[in-house]
Amino acid sequence: MMILPEFDLLRPRSVDEAVAAARRTSGAFDYLGGGTDLLCNYKWGINANPTVISLRHIGELNERQGGSLGGGLTLAELEADEDFLHDFPAFRRTLARLASPLIRQTGTLAGNILVDTRCIWLNQSAFARRALGNCLKADGPECRVVKGSTDRCYANYSGDMAPVFMVYGAEIRLAGPDGERTLPLTEFFSLDGRTRNVKAPEEIVVALDLPGDARTLRASYQKFRVREAWDFPELAVAASARMDGDRIEELSLVASAVASIPLWMDEIAAKYVGRTLDDETIDAVAGDMFKASRPVRATLLPPGYRKHMVRVMTTRALREIRGDAVPVPAAAM
Ligand SMILES: Cc1cc2nc3c(=O)[nH]c(=O)nc-3n(C[C@H](O)[C@H](O)[C@H](O)COP(=O)(O)OP(=O)(O)OC[C@H]3O[C@@H](n4cnc5c(N)ncnc54)[C@H](O)[C@@H]3O)c2cc1C
Ligand code: SF4
Repeated sequence: MMILPEFDLLRPRSVDEAVAAARRTSGAFDYLGGGTDLLCNYKWGINANPTVISLRHIGELNERQGGSLGGGLTLAELEADEDFLHDFPAFRRTLARLASPLIRQTGTLAGNILVDTRCIWLNQSAFARRALGNCLKADGPECRVVKGSTDRCYANYSGDMAPVFMVYGAEIRLAGPDGERTLPLTEFFSLDGRTRNVKAPEEIVVALDLPGDARTLRASYQKFRVREAWDFPELAVAASARMDGDRIEELSLVASAVASIPLWMDEIAAKYVGRTLDDETIDAVAGDMFKASRPVRATLLPPGYRKHMVRVMTTRALREIRGDAVPVPAAAM
C-alpha cells in the first residue's frame, strides 16, 4: 500500500500570502494544485517535502478573461468552456485525451504545465527503486537511463497542454518575491529532468495568456500513447500555421515527450514559411522533426520507435491543419 508521508498543509488565501509562506520554509516546500501529480510522487517517496502549500483557495488563480486563463482552473473547467474551445479548437481533443475524466476534475492548468518529468526507472515505489539502485533524480549518484550522467537527468516531459499553448504563442505569468513577470512559454522550459524550467521555487504560475491573433491560427495536437485511456504521451507533436490560401504564412512546431522539455522547433518551422503545404512539404517537415528528436529509454516504448512516430505524428498534424481527414484513435472523441 502506498501511504502519504506526513506534512504540514498550509492554505493561503492570496498569492502574496502563499509566496510569503513559501519563503518561511527555506525551500523545503511544494505548492499544491489538484495534487494528481505531486501527491502520487509523495506516495512513491519521490522528493517529498515537509510543507505543502495549497493554492486551491486563491480566487485570483481561478479567473478566465478571454484568452487569459488562471493557473488554478481545472482541466474539466476548460473542457466545459465552449467559448474557449471554439476560439482554440486544438484544446478540445487535447483535453479529451488527457489522463481521465476524474483526474481532469481535480488537475489544474498550472499543475499540468509543471507536471514532473517521468522515467521508468524513477516512477515506481521506493521499495522497487531501492532494489534497483536509486538514481540522480532521487537519492542516487547517477542517471541509470543515460549511464554515467552525474549532472543531468533525462526523464521525459509528459504534460499535454504546454505544447499546444506553445504553438498558439502563449505567455506564462509568474508571481514571486520580486513581483510579477511574464515570458513566452517557449522560453519557460530548460533542459534537465530535475530543474525542468526557469521558475524560481517560490514563484507561482498565475496564468497562461493566449494572444488575440492566436484565434486565427490552425492548430493540431497529435498524441501517441500505449492505451487509449489515461496514459501519458509516449511522444506528441503540436503544430500551428497561419495560411494564405495553401501557402504557409506562419508555422510553429513542437515535439513533445521525447526529451525533458517540450522541444520548440523554431529553426525547422522557419525553413518552410512561404512554401505550399503540399505532400512534399509535409514529408520534408516530418523528416526534419524525425531527425531532430532523440528520445532516450525513459518511457515504456523503445526510443527508435518513438522517434519514428514523431514523423508519423508530424504528418498527421500538418494534414489536419491542411484540412485532410486524419486517423484519430477511437477513444479520442
Ligand atoms: C493515472 C494518471 C494519468 C495521467 N495522465 C496524464 C496525461 O495523459 N497527460 C498529462 O498531461 N498529465 C497526466 N497526468 C498528470 C496530472 O494528473 C496532470 O498533469 C494534472 O494536470 C496535474 O495538475 P495538478 O493540479 O493535479 O498538479 P499538482 O500535482 O498539484 O502539481 C504538479 C506540480 O505543479 C506545481 N504547481 C501546481 N500548481 C502550481 C502553481 N499555480 N504555481 C506553481 N506551481 C504549481 C506543484 O508544486 C507540482 O510541482 C496523469 C496523472 C495520473 C495519476
Ligand atoms: S533519467 Fe536518469 S536521473 Fe532521471 S529519473 Fe531516469 S534514471 Fe533517474
